[in-house]
Amino acid sequence: MYNQEVKLSILEEKSIQLFIKRDDLIHPHISGNKYRKLKYNLIEASNKGFTTLLTFGGAYSNHIAAVAAAGKEKGFKTIGIIRGEELWNRIKENPTLKFAKECGMEFKFISRGEYRKKTDKDFIERLYCEFGNFYLVPEGGTNALAVKGCEEILTENDFSFDVVGVAVGTGGTISGIINCSQLSQQVLGFPALKGDFLNNEIVKFASKRNWKLVCDYHFGGYAKINEELITFINDFKIKTHIPLDPVYTGKMLFGLMDMIKNDEFEKGTKILAIHTGGLQGIKGMNLRNRKKGLSELL
Ligand SMILES: *Cc1c(COP(=O)(O)O)cnc(C)c1O
Repeated sequence: MYNQEVKLSILEEKSIQLFIKRDDLIHPHISGNKYRKLKYNLIEASNKGFTTLLTFGGAYSNHIAAVAAAGKEKGFKTIGIIRGEELWNRIKENPTLKFAKECGMEFKFISRGEYRKKTDKDFIERLYCEFGNFYLVPEGGTNALAVKGCEEILTENDFSFDVVGVAVGTGGTISGIINCSQLSQQVLGFPALKGDFLNNEIVKFASKRNWKLVCDYHFGGYAKINEELITFINDFKIKTHIPLDPVYTGKMLFGLMDMIKNDEFEKGTKILAIHTGGLQGIKGMNLRNRKKGLSELL
């Protein structure tokens, strides 16, 4: 997708150029990196004759929404194994699940304890017994074919950037970006969650070492947000007309802008931030914000 230049006075002041790759606009419902990650998996599923996709996710998961929409578009039946057994009768109140259901996804709600077993052989075996044959897309969609899809995010036109910034969940997307980056570029990953297992995940798929994780901007953990982040995201949207999601891209851009403010980049640095999408999550986040007395995301 195209790169949009961000015009903000702080960038001018610090002599930094910042562009955003608008992968959020790649498809109306299969957002950003989820589109990239599904691309070759869907081709593989179709080539192998599968008619059903099964995957896992939380109640607000971009991945669940993407798989449901992709299944509808490409003619696969879809099954979502959802974390949280209490959600079975709250589908209508949850924008992500409601959307996925409208796309035809069938759900199985399981407890958080059971959910932790999602990669166990026995657990998967029982799913085959229950649902018959299916193509299994792992949680978050990361596997070798997903990384292959993400290797198409950067193109030759992007090689003039010194730094590439991207949000990190499971590490699949950044791995693809590393693999298609130039050695002269630095890839900065901003984990959206706490924990230091991510380095090992990335090493499994990444072919170069021109990357680093910046772990100071997770805001307390996965999908945790506060008023400061909400203000940043709203302000960014008003000033640049670019919407950011609160779970991934908002935290990544907050981190990049903070690093720019703190003079962590040399004058003249050209930065490309990847907009990985995720905007479908805003509705659900706003419902939760209201309950917690937090402001609304615009
Ligand atoms: C899933 C997701 C990510 C994380 O991608 P990984 O490949 O799991 O690291 C980043 N941004 C958005 C918007 C996402 O939905």
